[in-house]
Amino acid sequence: MSGRIPTEEIMNTSFSSTPGTGQPIQIIDITEDHKFKLNENNLQQILSHPKARLKKVSIISVAGAFRKGKSFLLDFFLRYLNRNGREDWLGADDEPLTGFHWKGGSERDTTGILMWSEPFILRRNDTKEEIAVLLMDTQGAFDSQSTVKDCATVFALSLMISSIHVYNITQNLQEDDLQHLHLFTEYGKIALEDSHETPFQRLTFLIRDWSFPYEYSYGYEGGQALLDKRFQINSKQHQELTELRINLKKCFNTLNCYLMPHPGLRVCTSPEFDGKLKDIELDFKNYVKKFVEAQFQPNLTVKQINGREITTLELFEYFRAYCRIFEADELPEPKSMLLATAEANNLAAKAIAKEFYMNAMEQHCGGDRPYMHPHHLQASNVQIMEEAIKKFDLVPKMGGESLSLKYLDELKSEMNDLYESYVKHNDSKNIFAFSRTATSLIAVMVL
Ligand code: GDP
Ligand code: MG
Repeated sequence: MSGRIPTEEIMNTSFSSTPGTGQPIQIIDITEDHKFKLNENNLQQILSHPKARLKKVSIISVAGAFRKGKSFLLDFFLRYLNRNGREDWLGADDEPLTGFHWKGGSERDTTGILMWSEPFILRRNDTKEEIAVLLMDTQGAFDSQSTVKDCATVFALSLMISSIHVYNITQNLQEDDLQHLHLFTEYGKIALEDSHETPFQRLTFLIRDWSFPYEYSYGYEGGQALLDKRFQINSKQHQELTELRINLKKCFNTLNCYLMPHPGLRVCTSPEFDGKLKDIELDFKNYVKKFVEAQFQPNLTVKQINGREITTLELFEYFRAYCRIFEADELPEPKSMLLATAEANNLAAKAIAKEFYMNAMEQHCGGDRPYMHPHHLQASNVQIMEEAIKKFDLVPKMGGESLSLKYLDELKSEMNDLYESYVKHNDSKNIFAFSRTATSLIAVMVL
């Protein structure tokens, strides 16, 4: 696997911090009146986890119809990550499968979007940089309790946010599975025009219970052949369907398909089944192992927006921006998705610059630093502000200069406010001023 970092002691967070004992955390709730609510505290706690703070991120999400084994699959990802991807990570025959809650029966379980509380830190193979890997589970789409809009929104949010989007489909890849992607190809088209960067990283159609291995073999190879067939363009095809196919390919760095064997009857019919490997068909186990490993090899897929690999700090801004536009009653137009991305892009650049400013100022005049002469403090501030503005400018931004000027102004004004508080704090450390006052007080009293 891409080298997992030995797990270090993790500082206090309100989530369980021992490896292997994390839990699913609700990031996006859907209220009874079908409103989407981002749980910022929960998200913040995961993203600012001491292990993951300011690291680049790879986000794996699994989305699609409900009760089709999404959470079940994610629990295999958890096993792989918890066990450092070592050869026997799949585990012993009689271990129940735990993690994201999966279950039999026809009632839906997960609602909205969940994230695993523990980010996993892996090293990428090329640059050896540490990357935070996050797992995201989604509400079963297209069930009776959710409106079509809820389902489309969950799907859209998870696709916009993730770097690896696993589109979980049962039995076969149909035309309407492709049509669900129309919104993203429309968004992708205008995003490409704006920035010339591929908007998304990886989309994998994962076909469960594939039952024609003699036509298309299990795994990626058969999946690719099936995909090629479904993506064939012919003159009889409606123009819209042709465009969808052409645009889809342009919108993702990698677009592939994986055919999974059926896990066996016990898995889908036995009420006692609790995920033990001994109850799962061998073929399924082999192919699930290969599938999970392939998401981390030959390299990790880091989330990119506008051609730039983003960090946990930036991801927070994108989450907020996307949730805001998906809160409305209607699904957003591709144009407003682009605007939200551009705004988040600027907000993220501002967050990077501000973080830099605060860190640098802390080092100069923070709580444990001695008093500085006001002239020196002012000179440091000018220099650090300039550097922070350079950091802001360096982030490639969508939406043009006029949009980015607005955020630059905000950045300057926020840094000015911070500077004022640094000045006050610095003044309070001035023991000479204090002792002068004290001396004159004593002198007054003596007189
Ligand atoms: P989710 O709603 O998509 O998250 O589905 P779950 O992960 O909760 O799984 C629903 C049911 O499908 C469980 O009873 C699993 O045992 C079963 N299951 C898991 N994987 C597969 C699969 O590949 N094929 C079939 N037929 N059932 C599966
Ligand atoms: Mg589920």
